[in-house]
Amino acid sequence: MDFPIVDLMDPGACYRYLVDLLHPDGLSCPRCHRSDGMGVQARHRAPVLDYRCTHCGRVFNAYTGTPLHGTRRPPAQWVLIFRGFAQGTPTAQLARELGCDRMHLLDLRHRFQERAREPPRRSARSPARRPKRTRCSRMRGKKGVRHPNPDDPPRRRANKRRGHGNFANDRPPVVGVVSRDTGAIVLEVVERTDQETLIAFVTEHTDDGATVYTDEWSGYARLSAEGRGHATVNHTPGQREWARDDDGDGIREVHDNTLEGLWAALRTFLRPFRGISKHYLHQYVAVFQWAYNKVGVAGMVRTLLGLPLSTPTAS
Ligand SMILES: [Zn+2]
Repeated sequence: MDFPIVDLMDPGACYRYLVDLLHPDGLSCPRCHRSDGMGVQARHRAPVLDYRCTHCGRVFNAYTGTPLHGTRRPPAQWVLIFRGFAQGTPTAQLARELGCDRMHLLDLRHRFQERAREPPRRSARSPARRPKRTRCSRMRGKKGVRHPNPDDPPRRRANKRRGHGNFANDRPPVVGVVSRDTGAIVLEVVERTDQETLIAFVTEHTDDGATVYTDEWSGYARLSAEGRGHATVNHTPGQREWARDDDGDGIREVHDNTLEGLWAALRTFLRPFRGISKHYLHQYVAVFQWAYNKVGVAGMVRTLLGLPLSTPTAS
C-alpha cells in the first residue's frame, strides 16, 4: 500500500539531516574552506540557503560540490528517496508516494546505487578473517535493454532454463564470502562460475591461510594450492549433510548454513523489484551487502552519496 508522507515531514529538519550527512565537520566555503564568514545571500529556496563567503566571495549552498549539486528537489523528498533506496523500496512504489516520474527516479536510483559499489573507507577486512564461500545461481530477466530480434521476443516471465546460470544466458550468478569471525559479507555478480572466476574471487576476498568452507563442487579443489585451508560440505541429494564435525570436538564446524541463509535473504530483498536488469543487478546486490554488513542508516546514505563513512577505522 502506498503511504505518502512527504507533506508531513518538517522541511527544516530534513535539510539539517542532509547537511549533517554531507558535511559531518560542519558547513564551510567550498573554495577557501573557512566557516567563519558565511553571510546569507538568498533565502528564496529556504530552508536551502545560498551563502556568500566574506573571505573569497564564493556563493554556495550546502549542496555545492556534493552529489546533490544543482538539484532542486525539496529536502524532504531527498530524505525519502534515500530511505527508499536504502530499504529496497521498489521504484514504482516510491515514485507514486513522492508524486514524481518513475523513469526519472530509476535513473537517479542507478546513479546513486552505482556509488554504493565503491567500498567505503572503512574496510570489512580483518587479519583474523576465516571466510567461507559457496556458489549461487538465480533466475533473472533481461530488462532495460532493447531487444534486437523481433522473431525472438523478450521473455515475460522468469527465465526457467535449467543448469548453471551465467551472465550471457541472462542468469548472472552471485558469489559471496562470509567471515566466520565478523559475519561481514562480500558479494559479487560474476560472468560465470568457472574455476578461474571462483578461485580469483575467493583469494581476493580472503586472507592467506584462511580456512574456506564450501560445498563439494570440484572447482574449489585448487584453493589448497592458493594457500587456503579448504573443507567441504556434501550437498548431493540423498546424502546431504548440513554440518559435520570433522575433528571430533563436538562442534560441527564444517557447514555453510550462513551462506545458504544469506541467499534466501538476498532473494527476499530482490523479489519486490520484480526483475532487475542484469546490467544493474550488481548495484542492488551492493545495497543489500552494505545493509547486511550493518553500516547503519547514516552509513548507508553516505555510501549511496559516494562519501566515506564518517568514522574512519581506529584499528
Ligand atoms: Zn571562501
